[in-house]
Amino acid sequence: MTTADAPAEPPVDPYALDREGLEAYVAGLGEPGYRARQLHAWLVRGVDDPHAMTDLPKTLRARLAERFAPSRPELVAHSVADHGHTHKLLLRFSDGEAIETVLMLYPKRATVCISTQAGCALGCPFCATGQAGFRRQLTAGEVVRQVVVADAALRSGAIGGEDLPDGAPDHVTNVVYMGMGEPLANLAATLTSVNWLHDPEGFNLSARSITVSTVGLVPGIEQLTGLGLPLTLAVSLHAATDELRDQLVPINQTHPLAELEQAVRGYRAATNRRVSIEWCLIGDVNDDDRQADELGRIAVRWRSHVNVIPMNPTPGVKWREPTAERLKRFVSRVRERGAEVTVRDTRGRDADAACGQLLAAYTLDTGSRLPAAVAAADRVDALRRRPEATT
Ligand code: SAH
Ligand code: SF4
Repeated sequence: MTTADAPAEPPVDPYALDREGLEAYVAGLGEPGYRARQLHAWLVRGVDDPHAMTDLPKTLRARLAERFAPSRPELVAHSVADHGHTHKLLLRFSDGEAIETVLMLYPKRATVCISTQAGCALGCPFCATGQAGFRRQLTAGEVVRQVVVADAALRSGAIGGEDLPDGAPDHVTNVVYMGMGEPLANLAATLTSVNWLHDPEGFNLSARSITVSTVGLVPGIEQLTGLGLPLTLAVSLHAATDELRDQLVPINQTHPLAELEQAVRGYRAATNRRVSIEWCLIGDVNDDDRQADELGRIAVRWRSHVNVIPMNPTPGVKWREPTAERLKRFVSRVRERGAEVTVRDTRGRDADAACGQLLAAYTLDTGSRLPAAVAAADRVDALRRRPEATT
């Protein structure tokens, strides 16, 4: 450290502080409040190098440069699909942990799918991220920086040396917390990042254009409910009976369907927002008539829209998406129960662009095995072979 007032405290990632946090931080340096607003305005434009913050006095720039951690992630792999409309990024942080961020471009929308953890502890057997196990939590700053990277790409019209297609929006319009990890298992970082995204002087996204996807971590849903912010909440259901869900979504053993249903009702009542249901459809695993009928009933009770996502192949997992015939039959049975259903496109299938796949491909390339996937598939097969399992 070179200056007399050199900090003894560890370096700070400014994106790990929200607006109030920045105000407190700048006040702690003895600076007036408007400096925090100036700093904030740079940060939301993706500028985190204090030396480039030209409206701050030079002395403050130098003090901030000494205190801020160099946390900008490095782009270590980039795959492009859907004729340039899907960009999957593998971003590595300074400690070597890598996570995935996906930018999806639509005519008037630019959606970023962000990660909240390196890996995931919840071990859903069809999910590539789950197979790799839990590595560490991302900080709020690391969560926000994924949006910063995507926003900067949209502003400049290019990413990783690839031009974005003509007509792509020039800023991020939607954020989905559907990348690696379980957002509600890293709630503090998730909420700080939501503050950045939702702040009118930040990324200025409406709560509705921010979707948090959870596998059904009931205490986390209850905490979100307490905030009353009308975020879009998606519940990854994948099975409509406890018996099957215990296998496909192991957290169900701790928070079974009845408990999840109570939490969903509470969220809806507090925010006036419908909760959507995600259903990863796996051939001969959760695509039978009984699951379709039960799902239809649940969706009607929850007043939820169902998004069916045919399973993306995952390295080390033998399950696949269902046949077109079974997919059609499943969807019509759910509809017959009175539920609204959309079959979602599987963006980026040709670019390993589903959850956790780019990293899994990377891991397998280096010779690692994903044994959890094999064991879980065997358990579900045994369950399905029992006589009461239906077509
Ligand atoms: N942990 C959270 C958010 C991240 S996963 C959750 O599970 O909701 C985001 C979505 O991708 C989830 O709905 C998950 O079920 C789905 N997903 C995971 N692996 C998949 C695969 N192989 N094919 C299709 N969807 C998958
Ligand atoms: Fe974790 Fe979600 Fe993957 Fe399950 S589906 S292992 S909760 S990231």
